[in-house]
Amino acid sequence: MKHTRVKDLLNSNNTLHEVNAKGWVRTFRNNQFIALNDGSTINNIQCVVDFENTAEETLKRITTGAAISVTGNLVESKGAGQKYEIQVKKLEILGDSDAEKFPMQPKKHSLEFLRENAHLRVRTNAFGAIMRIRSVLSFAVHSYFQQKGFVYVNTPIITGADAEGAGEMFQITSLPLNNLPKNEEGNIDYKKDFFGKHTNLTVSGQLEGETFAMALGQIYTFGPTFRAENSNTSRHLAEFWMIEPEVAFNNLDDNMDLAEDFIQYVIKFAMDKCGDDLKFLEGRLLDEEKSKPQAERSEMALLEKLNFVLENNFKRVSYTEAIDILRDCTPNKKKKFQYIINEWGADLQSEHERYLVEKHFKCPVILFDYPANIKAFYMRLNEDGKTVRAMDILFPGIGEIVGGSQREERFDVLVEKMKALGIDEEELWWYLDTRRFGSAVHSGFGLGFERLVLFVTGMTNIRDVIAFPRTPQNADF
Ligand code: ATP
Ligand code: MN
Repeated sequence: MKHTRVKDLLNSNNTLHEVNAKGWVRTFRNNQFIALNDGSTINNIQCVVDFENTAEETLKRITTGAAISVTGNLVESKGAGQKYEIQVKKLEILGDSDAEKFPMQPKKHSLEFLRENAHLRVRTNAFGAIMRIRSVLSFAVHSYFQQKGFVYVNTPIITGADAEGAGEMFQITSLPLNNLPKNEEGNIDYKKDFFGKHTNLTVSGQLEGETFAMALGQIYTFGPTFRAENSNTSRHLAEFWMIEPEVAFNNLDDNMDLAEDFIQYVIKFAMDKCGDDLKFLEGRLLDEEKSKPQAERSEMALLEKLNFVLENNFKRVSYTEAIDILRDCTPNKKKKFQYIINEWGADLQSEHERYLVEKHFKCPVILFDYPANIKAFYMRLNEDGKTVRAMDILFPGIGEIVGGSQREERFDVLVEKMKALGIDEEELWWYLDTRRFGSAVHSGFGLGFERLVLFVTGMTNIRDVIAFPRTPQNADF
């Protein structure tokens, strides 16, 4: 007999004769009531065991974490909280679970403990919900761009470029590390390496993405990205997923419009499709808030916060305006910031970004026109000669969620910039070709997928929104 997913059973329009469900036992009460979950929904189905006619031996094996198969009628439930339940006629233990040793006990675990058990944490309500939402969000990403006629491009994960302009890189090699071949100058001879040159894991697909945008018009990438930055924060992973649209003939304003529309679309998509999971996570957060002092509690519940982002335009503010606000704000004057803002040109730290978003504007903010020397080489220089057409989108609780720009389309200006920064023109010859042949205004951005999932789920540590996080000193599982 084919089994039916719990979600479909719970959504049934009527009672059913003889159904089969398979899943894992969450709890077993009074030797009678099994809460069964199969991952199709956050909701368990109650399975009522006829304990008088079930062998004692079998009852003992219905333990938290065990895999079971139940067959019986789907009937209206007498208990509160569910419409239907299964009146079990036949119960089969598919896989025993040692109740004493099973780490996912039916109680609240710390997120730290759950990270150490990342292979089992997905069996909890919270992580089941997060991972279903993550899946729906990634579908939403494709749905948005495909509907608008963007072409999905898979840019390489192994890159021959040493400077993609976005962060510290992981080298990859097949050379024997304890016996490296040397050239005449005594340096490592990468000619003998697998690709005949020095290679890295990509930090961004943008440069390759631009070459495709200059042919296909509008493209997007959505793939894994690697950064060897030793920043042990709650917002950085060494391996994360990035979405990078790139659009020919878009200027920075078009780029902002696209980013804003895209973010609102995917959030709405998740709200429409993941109601139960979001409601659960909202409740979980409210519980957590209760244990915090009043001043630290957030002003909005999760769904309210998501709706707020849908209903309000992102505030667009120039870097120069932002610096004025920050210089004069109380935490800066009282030296409460770790990095004090003294003058124009300072790089903004996450504490400053969060001040702007959470305290000053109280809504998502798009900062634009940053000083050229704190941004990547490929951003378009403004007429003032000192700022570039960059934009960062800042979100409450997260800080930067998007980094993007209008690209420098002028060959001469770009080459001059690369020279000034010591970026090898020969290495990026192919990138410069886009400016040699039919160059045009174009723009794009990178959105860190996990930061988006953080925002939508209301979680606070990026390690909790990816299946198996990779961070400094940690590559378990
Ligand atoms: P940050 O200042 O937060 O380190 P960044 O300026 O290095 O970010 P970009 O190079 O602009 O970020 O990358 C684009 C987007 O990718 C960021 O806005 C962010 O959402 C995401 N991102 C960047 N680095 C990481 C990381 N280590 N882990 C997860 N997401 C990241
Ligand atoms: Mn970074």
